[in-house]
Parts: sequence; C-alpha cells; structure tokens
Amino acid sequence: MTDKTDIEARWRPRLEAELEELLASSHATSAERAPVGLDQQSVGRLARMDAMQIQAMAQASERRRQARIVALRKALERLAGGEYGYCEACGEAIPEGRLEVDATARFCVACAQGKER
Ligand SMILES: [Zn+2]
Repeated sequence: MTDKTDIEARWRPRLEAELEELLASSHATSAERAPVGLDQQSVGRLARMDAMQIQAMAQASERRRQARIVALRKALERLAGGEYGYCEACGEAIPEGRLEVDATARFCVACAQGKER
C-alpha cells in the first residue's frame, strides 16, 4: 500500500462521512425508539402493538448503528496511530478492495478466514 499520508487522505474522509451520517440518523430516529406511552388508549390496542413493533425495529437498527459507530471510531484511532490498513494479526497490508467493502476491516482476508474456522 502507499504511504501513510495517502492512506489518511484516502480513508479519513470516508470514515468521517459515514460516522457523521450514522450519528445524524441516530439523532433523527431517537423519537421512534422512545418508550411507547401507556396513555395511548385513544389510539387503540392494535395501533399500540404497531407502535411497539416499530419501536423494537428502531431499537434493533440503532444497536447495529452503534456497533458500526464504535468500529468507525476505532478505525479513525488506528488511522491516527498509523496502523490503519494493516492486518492486526499478521501486520500485512489489507488489500484496498477489502477496505472498499468495509472501511473498518481490521484483518486481511487470510486472517479473517482463519478466525472464523
Ligand atoms: Zn493478516
């Protein structure tokens, strides 16, 4: 892979853009995850069940979003430390194609597969 300044110039904007987008959508959807009020008799039982289902789905996607936010922040830390783009297990450069698929990838293909076995 190219030198560290290039890596930083190439990946930092992407990591930061995705992080910003996730933080914004986390904020934008906070109302959907709020507890379903008990004072909703007026809207009826079915509507309340719908509301609870929507809330459960919103909470599940928020959990995925938060996990991704953590991964992005860790990737930015590795970038600042000059470790970004190198496999955490073997130290080899992670192929660009793999980073294209997931910019937070921490292992090369071989090590990632080894971990799953
Ligand atoms: Zn590796």
